[in-house]
Amino acid sequence: MPTNFLHTPIEYLNGVGPARAKLLKAELGIQTYGDLANFFPNRYIDKTKYYKINQLVPETTHVQVVGVITHLKTVGNGKATRLVATFKDATGVMELVWFRSQKYFKDSLKLNEPYVAYGKISKYGMYSIAHPDLELLKEHKSRQHSAMTPIYPSTEQLTKRNITNKMMVRMMQQLFSEINNAFTETLSPELMHQYQLVDKNTAMRNAHFPSDADLLQRSIYRLKFEELFFIQMELLLQNRVRKTRIKGYVFDQVGERFNDFYNNHLPFELTGAQKRVVKEIRGDMGTGAHMNRLLQGDVGSGKTIVAVLTCLLAIDNGFQACIMAPTEILAQQHYAGVSELLEKTGITVRILTGSVKTKDRKLIHESLEDGSLDILIGTHALIEDKVKFKNLGVAIVDEQHRFGVAQRAKLWKKNDLPPHILVMTATPIPRTLAMSLYGDLDVSVIDELPPGRKEVKTVHRYDKNRLSVFSFLKDEIKKGRQVYVVYPLIEESEKLDYKDLMDGYESIARDFPSPQYQVSIVHGRMKPEDKDYEMNRFVKGETQIMVATTVIEVGVNVPNASVMVIESAERFGLSQLHQLRGRVGRGADQSFCILMTSYKLSSEAKTRLDTMVATTDGFEIAEVDLKLRGPGDLMGTRQSGILSLKVADIVKDNAILATARTAAQYVLQTDPQITLASNTNIRKVMTFLQSKKGFWKYIS
Ligand code: ADP
Ligand code: MG
Repeated sequence: MPTNFLHTPIEYLNGVGPARAKLLKAELGIQTYGDLANFFPNRYIDKTKYYKINQLVPETTHVQVVGVITHLKTVGNGKATRLVATFKDATGVMELVWFRSQKYFKDSLKLNEPYVAYGKISKYGMYSIAHPDLELLKEHKSRQHSAMTPIYPSTEQLTKRNITNKMMVRMMQQLFSEINNAFTETLSPELMHQYQLVDKNTAMRNAHFPSDADLLQRSIYRLKFEELFFIQMELLLQNRVRKTRIKGYVFDQVGERFNDFYNNHLPFELTGAQKRVVKEIRGDMGTGAHMNRLLQGDVGSGKTIVAVLTCLLAIDNGFQACIMAPTEILAQQHYAGVSELLEKTGITVRILTGSVKTKDRKLIHESLEDGSLDILIGTHALIEDKVKFKNLGVAIVDEQHRFGVAQRAKLWKKNDLPPHILVMTATPIPRTLAMSLYGDLDVSVIDELPPGRKEVKTVHRYDKNRLSVFSFLKDEIKKGRQVYVVYPLIEESEKLDYKDLMDGYESIARDFPSPQYQVSIVHGRMKPEDKDYEMNRFVKGETQIMVATTVIEVGVNVPNASVMVIESAERFGLSQLHQLRGRVGRGADQSFCILMTSYKLSSEAKTRLDTMVATTDGFEIAEVDLKLRGPGDLMGTRQSGILSLKVADIVKDNAILATARTAAQYVLQTDPQITLASNTNIRKVMTFLQSKKGFWKYIS
């Protein structure tokens, strides 16, 4: 058998031909024998199993039942009729239903003769199967039954053009009859032994045509393991390349500035998590490698102080630092916070945003270039080419997902060697995943809130309780607190959403009349200066209520705001709800989050709301979110290949992922260059992957 057998174009397979080949390519991307073999069933029918009617539960999907038809009747009238058969076994009664070809079935079905009925069950009062596969028991018994029939994913076009599952199965059977163990083993004997993995050919064959449930399970396990293992190998190698090949400035001093601040000006004791993270950062910056670290910490977990300490490390070693935020308001807040912390230290801090006057801008540029400015805080304005540092050592980026790759690249060019990068985000990624997802970032986590923080009390209220919610808001405002009221804004329904926002604003303005109450409004259609003006009125406490769309989601800090009302909360995603809630609970007072919804809730929306009410732990929320939505928009995952998984599921197969990662770590530890004869199989795959990516050159 030629080695490129798997590359044979699919049209050469018996029974395919050019027309079908074209369709398979267009619909499923299948071009070769190998592609077809790697197109896996998404479930299997176990035709060795028979259900009794009283064993059916709503969770079972496809079942096979033996029984007799006792009655046949046509139900409904006009065009909307259906043929209903009463189907009985010794344990109970169910129904078989036909919408199409009613006459045919009415004439041909035999009453009181045992049939085997197979199909998807639903429950409308009684269990029923619509358009079952039906076969007389005596005929059924006379045939051989393969243990499990694969069911392949299909598309509308394929169904329309009559590529049925039966056809897919036939193609696969043909393929596997020709394929004859053509797959080369990709894993080492050692790993196969250690993890009890079945070999590649057995796994491939059984993934399509399992001889029994146990072998099926082991085959799928092996294929998932393999897939995740090689992704981990790539990520770990990429990481190693980054750490050994990209040079960074060495900050080996913990000097005067850091120690002075730490011992004399720290306004509070660091939490254990903050200490650990600072240590991790120090570790990175002392090695001579380039730091590219992601700092995850829930809203309010205290990332700012970590940023400041990181800046001080740079300054102690003769470097400058910058902190970049996604919006002007956030930059202002960072500037205010950092200046206050460093007030008594003699360290110079300036802010640079779009609104800084030309004269001040010039001064900032000068002091940056002569090195008299230590820390520059700002927006995107920081990365403009005309902003030149004398010696930038570290750049801290808040909420990275708002920055593009090109912008980060500009940061890298701000000094001869790339400055160290610390990216801070409050969007939690489940720990187990984060480690496995990023090849180009190390991950630190602040998983502990500062002591004495009061948990935000969260409740779910229906729209009709609005009056009592309003009166609660009035009580809070009377105590001097401030309130956010947030409306959803989604592109597809933008017009309606703005109308809701405006209606809401008007009704609040009516119920909270001026001059007793002042209401701000902020939304995306306002000019940036108007937005900032309104925002600032709220920040300064001149208005008590802030009506807004999600523009306030990121980072705004108004400690006096103690209530977050989220309108149409069912329309928000979990992570967004969590971010919004994070806007309150920043001061000493008890804070509240009120999730307003209508009565109509999907079960998924209900899960989101229940989760919000049940917990304030961002990581727990992230886990639920991931289960509900999949990894679709976890940042950075697009590049990691984790989304183009064929067999594994990054969420459900978390445990296999962890095992595969351990295995990959083991291989790279025991055989860093992958040169041992026992790892030949692995090396071959990695060499192949290298032809697509560039990093392999560093290790061979
Ligand atoms: P975030 O991670 O959301 O950026 P911040 O850095 O803004 O959080 O910190 C939130 C609040 O918690 C700030 O008011 C800060 O002063 C306070 N804080 C941070 N760390 C501690 C700590 N270890 N002990 C007490 N308060 C802290
Ligand atoms: Mg922050």
